[in-house]
Amino acid sequence: MLRKFFYPFLLPNGLLCAAALFILAQATLPAEFIPFLRVFPFAVVIIGLLLGWRFNRTRLIYAIGLMLLVELSLIYFSTGLANQLVFQSAALLLPLNLLLVSWFRERGIINLRTALWLTLLSAELLACAGLIHYRPTLSENWLNYLLIDLPLLQGLPLSQPLMLANGLVLLLLVVRALFNLAAFEASFFWAQLMIFAGFSGLGTQPLRLYLASAGLVLILGIMESSHSLAYRDELTGLLGRRALNEALDKLGNRYTLAMLDIDHFKKFNDTHGHDVGDQVLRMVAGKLATISGGGKLFRYGGEEFVVILRRKQIEDAIPYLEQMRLVVESARFVPRGKDRPQKKPKKRYLAGLSLKKPLKVTISIGAAARNDQLQTPDAVIKAADQALYRAKKAGRNRVCR
Ligand code: GH3
Ligand code: MG
Ligand code: MG
Repeated sequence: MLRKFFYPFLLPNGLLCAAALFILAQATLPAEFIPFLRVFPFAVVIIGLLLGWRFNRTRLIYAIGLMLLVELSLIYFSTGLANQLVFQSAALLLPLNLLLVSWFRERGIINLRTALWLTLLSAELLACAGLIHYRPTLSENWLNYLLIDLPLLQGLPLSQPLMLANGLVLLLLVVRALFNLAAFEASFFWAQLMIFAGFSGLGTQPLRLYLASAGLVLILGIMESSHSLAYRDELTGLLGRRALNEALDKLGNRYTLAMLDIDHFKKFNDTHGHDVGDQVLRMVAGKLATISGGGKLFRYGGEEFVVILRRKQIEDAIPYLEQMRLVVESARFVPRGKDRPQKKPKKRYLAGLSLKKPLKVTISIGAAARNDQLQTPDAVIKAADQALYRAKKAGRNRVCR
């Protein structure tokens, strides 16, 4: 649970944020650091824009653009009340726009949605200009209002409306990140955390460095997404063939390999269609992945999986594989057909004929361990495949060695 849910959320972006917050909180940084910090924002902008363009991630381009806009406005209005008004407006508008952008689907740069958003952004900029021009004193600025007068809420680093907006955006992004663990989606939460920290004036370093860190977090999110694109199988979310080959290269002298194959899988495709076949594959992969501790699971291809059991003799591997066979056998798979309503019907009888009978799915498993005759992973895989063949011959739904 922890592994599946929190590790991908916390690593590597949580770690990066913690490190960035720690460094930026230092009152004085080592002198060698200073040139690096000077280049850092420029590097983030350039790398971010290039990466966003090459990887087709317009959201990264927009986010970088937003932060650049804030930075340029602060440079333009660099002194006095105007500077503070720009700072406060940015503390409200940057998170809100980031939230909006994070919700965009990737549809390229030029489209109606972008036009609408840019119109909205222009209106926001006009409003800011109006604020600076017509309400130049801070006390009249509604961003400074006190919403609740409690002693507990006196020492906040930002005014209450700004705290509220930033906190709310942060909350919405974390909820969404936990529902969608894809690295790039989750990285918007961490980016907002850095932005919030920057506007709150934590530490003594300028806002620019916090914004650049937010950009770096988003860049890292894209790198992580690309990593899973390369190593994970899209249908099942399991590690794929490339990851398997690399893992096989790293094996030592003691290991067991197992080949798993869904029984009569062709039949599912033939009787229920390819879509249901895909669903069954996904569900079987999900069930297999729940058996933890011992083996590493890969999708080999088609309806075949491979388990690597490092440092395990075949005797130790069999009970584990038996568990895998059982978890699939005892599961009930109810496919979502086209006639099945998206929402669960309130009353059973309303569902009528669309209630499908659960499908029975079983798997066969063949296992082989490395030994003096089988020295290479290739040879062991071949032996496991022959064992799988024997399992099929012997009547399926069993583990053979
Ligand atoms: P058994 O292994 O028990 O001998 O029978 P089987 O029917 O499972 O064996 P076979 O290997 O001949 O059939 C595998 C079928 O799996 C062929 C193909 O139609 C189907 N298949 C392979 N990959 C996918 C996939 O990604 N999605 C779907 N829906 N079907 C797939
Ligand atoms: Mg097969
Ligand atoms: Mg099969």
